[in-house]
Amino acid sequence: MIIVLILTACVQTDPVEQMPKEEEKVPPDVVKIGFSMDTLEEERWVRDRDLFKQAVEDLGAEVEIMEARGNDALQVLQAETLISQGIDVLVIVPYNAEAAAAIVQKAHRAGIKVVSYDRLVKNADIDLYVSFDNERVGELQAKALTQRVPKGKYVYIGGADTDYNAHLMKKGVFSVLDPLIDHGDIQIVYDQWTDNWLPGNAYSNMKEALAANHNEIDAVIAANDATAGMALKALEEAGLEGKVPIAGQDAELAAAQRIVRGTQTMTVYKPINTLASEAASLAIALAKDEYIDTDKKINNGKIEVPSVLLEPIAVNRDNLDRTIIADGFHSREDVYK
Ligand code: BGC
Repeated sequence: MIIVLILTACVQTDPVEQMPKEEEKVPPDVVKIGFSMDTLEEERWVRDRDLFKQAVEDLGAEVEIMEARGNDALQVLQAETLISQGIDVLVIVPYNAEAAAAIVQKAHRAGIKVVSYDRLVKNADIDLYVSFDNERVGELQAKALTQRVPKGKYVYIGGADTDYNAHLMKKGVFSVLDPLIDHGDIQIVYDQWTDNWLPGNAYSNMKEALAANHNEIDAVIAANDATAGMALKALEEAGLEGKVPIAGQDAELAAAQRIVRGTQTMTVYKPINTLASEAASLAIALAKDEYIDTDKKINNGKIEVPSVLLEPIAVNRDNLDRTIIADGFHSREDVYK
């Protein structure tokens, strides 16, 4: 009997010890976001990375960022690493719109919601898409060029076939060009994707377009500023620099400088700070299972994805100052260097 009493006394623990400690009682509610990026190649993506990190931290959350350097397999591996690190939500800029569907499945199996950032993941149950209106980007480019060149031979240097944005932009471009083509005013003399968005490929495409048309080209629409820059190099080599209107996208510093010099006609400015801060606060809301009200839906081949689409802005020499410079996207000194 005495032995039983002693044993019971030994097994009994201090009642204070049994109470959960303060920090265990309240689970840490700092949201952890995984940001899986395709590339940091273009100037804009460095801005996206920095502004997104800043926005997330300003909202009291944490972010782990990985860059897949244009490699499908690497992006899957990195996403798996982020998932295993216990993130609450995954924000992804897919390299390949179709291949990234596997990442969405893996995240969902782990109970993690997924936000498509800037680029849409196709054929997947994406929870939210935050981007600019990419069809509008194409429309703005085509409208600006057709005002300058209402008749003539057009070259289209598209983006990467694997990026759904490139398809949306092309749709926007041709929604403006098609009636003019049907009317016989405009002819498309060259139309190619730019593999992997590589400016070197845009250069080869432009060379090919020039050769096929004996340098007789009246306007060029390039899917972004980096491809426009290399298309311009090919035009320059043909003695056509500044003579053939050319459109780009992203409001890169080099493009803004070319607009000032008169060698590039326009660019499309997408205020990245708005995209980054919208995406950060919506990702945190998703992680907390809060209701998100979006007014738009975009079909990604599988579902109607709730979408937030921001407005892109056409920039030319006339409004450079009151758009990208006024916003502090680039400084006046840099642009007019
Ligand atoms: C983006 C562009 C960017 C391009 C190449 C597109 O999805 O919308 O802003 O220039 O990718 O990275």
